[in-house]
Amino acid sequence: SVHLELRQKEKLAVIGQMAAGIGHEIRNPLSALKGFTQLQQERSPNSNDFYPIMIQEIDRINSIVNDLMYLGKPKEIKFDKANIEEIIAYTLSITQQQAERQGVTIETKIAGPLPPLDCDSLQLKQVFINLIKNAIESMPNGGRITINVRVIEGKKMNISIQDEGCGIDEDSVPNLGEPFYTTKTDGTGLGLMVSNQIVQDHQGEITIKSSVGKGTLVNVTVPISHNY
Ligand code: ADP
Ligand code: MG
Repeated sequence: SVHLELRQKEKLAVIGQMAAGIGHEIRNPLSALKGFTQLQQERSPNSNDFYPIMIQEIDRINSIVNDLMYLGKPKEIKFDKANIEEIIAYTLSITQQQAERQGVTIETKIAGPLPPLDCDSLQLKQVFINLIKNAIESMPNGGRITINVRVIEGKKMNISIQDEGCGIDEDSVPNLGEPFYTTKTDGTGLGLMVSNQIVQDHQGEITIKSSVGKGTLVNVTVPISHNY
């Protein structure tokens, strides 16, 4: 089992500041580009055109830029009471298409009733989107993802994501959570790092257990309430 920790904090800070600056500059032209592409799509009577792909790719740049900006300026976490089931349900609605395309089924088991979770639900959604995407991407030939949500030790919420994917070999483990570490041709290597940062901002932790060829179990554990 691997505890992700923020290694090389300074390196990150420098990368982050640069990334945030560049990201900021990229966002405005990008949103103009998306707007005009959508306009062209509406004008075009031809359904065989490439506008949907162009828009999809613009959205992809956008999400990379958003990840980069999170590194630069860890946003202030806004704690609120949230329903973890709703957070998971939202996450699944975002990842469902990709799962279906790859023949991946996702099963959620809630050991309920669960108490409200003191968290920044927008940020936690980002975490689960990243982790579930990773699980889906580890199973190019389909498979099953099982998500378990439960309370542990009376005061922590534990969300586990188990996949039946390629797994992570031992030599790669130290690289997990490093900025830009990816084994994918179209990966960014930012997902785990941003997720880890967000969960740490919640005073929680992410642990990963993996077995090559069998699958990966990612555990997110966060305190249910923050009594400062
Ligand atoms: P990306 O998904 O863009 O590659 P991440 O930071 O999300 O970046 O993940 C980094 C790397 O960790 C992945 O490229 C992959 O090698 C490995 N990884 C993460 N999650 C899983 C998983 N569920 N199964 C197998 N490998 C994983
Ligand atoms: Mg990823």
